[in-house]
Amino acid sequence: MNIATQTAQIGLEWDTRTGAVTVPIYQTATFRHPGLGQSTGYDYTRSGNPTRQALEEGIARLEGGARGFAYASGMAAIANLLLLFKKGDHLVVTEDLYGGTCRLFDQIFTQYELSFTYVDTSDIKAVRAAIRPETKALFVESLTNPLLKVADIAALSALCRERGLLHIVDNTFLTPYLLRPFDHGADITVYSATKYLAGHNDTVSGLVAVKDPQLAERVYFLQNSVGAVLGPQDSWLTIRGMKTLSVRLDRQQENAGRVAQWLSNHPRVRKVYYPGLSGHPGHPGHELLARQARGFGAMIAFEVDEHALVERLLLKTEVISFAESLGGVETLITFPQVQTHADIPPELRQRLGINDVLLRLSVGIEDADDLIDDLAQAFEGGDQGSGTGDR
Ligand SMILES: *Cc1c(COP(=O)(O)O)cnc(C)c1O
Repeated sequence: MNIATQTAQIGLEWDTRTGAVTVPIYQTATFRHPGLGQSTGYDYTRSGNPTRQALEEGIARLEGGARGFAYASGMAAIANLLLLFKKGDHLVVTEDLYGGTCRLFDQIFTQYELSFTYVDTSDIKAVRAAIRPETKALFVESLTNPLLKVADIAALSALCRERGLLHIVDNTFLTPYLLRPFDHGADITVYSATKYLAGHNDTVSGLVAVKDPQLAERVYFLQNSVGAVLGPQDSWLTIRGMKTLSVRLDRQQENAGRVAQWLSNHPRVRKVYYPGLSGHPGHPGHELLARQARGFGAMIAFEVDEHALVERLLLKTEVISFAESLGGVETLITFPQVQTHADIPPELRQRLGINDVLLRLSVGIEDADDLIDDLAQAFEGGDQGSGTGDR
């Protein structure tokens, strides 16, 4: 079944007693037992809750995995997965990683003697060279933040199989609507569902899907043991958001394509990173993503020609809001060097191109012309009404 159908119908057949079309919010901590040694299948909400389960089964089905798991945030999901590893284990990781993930790995899990090597995972040779005898997993972002580098999931999965590594994909920027990593050989996917999946900037949540049933059992053990589960209300909000994933992303991508094109023609823009741009200069990941995914996503990074413009764009845009996060229906602009990537070591930031003229846009579902007009007036100094006819 097409993923647009699957997302629209998450939880639809859950309540057979009343026929409710949406899954009810089971706001309960505990469940009564029908008899001694008997269970309804639910005992205690940390171990299992029907609203959360509808979401977990939903993500498992979208991915084609054995099981899904919902967590209190994307970071809680990633932290839980890291507990699959033991002292001395080594992971190879995407270098331009989400800042919070980098902080979790380097400042917390290194204390438990896990080690991490950061490489450009769009370069398969670099990944191969980083693998050591004690390497247990490859952790990649399918589309990176903020520079939108594209990882070849099929090639990396083949390498993982050859070397006996677990392949974990943070697919937050693409979602299963645009890319299903298990179809290309990955083992585990992880999401900040806060972003595109929930999609309305109204809830923080994390999701994991696991392909193999035995590995899924282990992840369930970790989820229940640590307990960073998603509550029933937020599970419901995440389902409610996911139902419109396909229409939101179609619109967001269409808008992103138009905004990226407009930015590439703007005299004060030095460089645009958007994988939907083809030709020259285009984007280095364009062809791979065109082959591997169903679209190019709706994140754009761009460099302006002087630092003074950064503050102007952040503060003078009116339709577009200056805020962190991404993936929601509202268009947001941010300044990665200070706002989202402050925890990345400065030398690495500089090498990656996260500099003092780089801005990031998360394109929403507004009218594309309104977004472009807003950027145009902000480039000109925010003097609303002074002709923005350079569209
Ligand atoms: C936001 C984000 C996370 C962290 O998720 P939270 O829900 O904020 O905890 C992890 N990975 C990526 C790629 C993200 O964008």
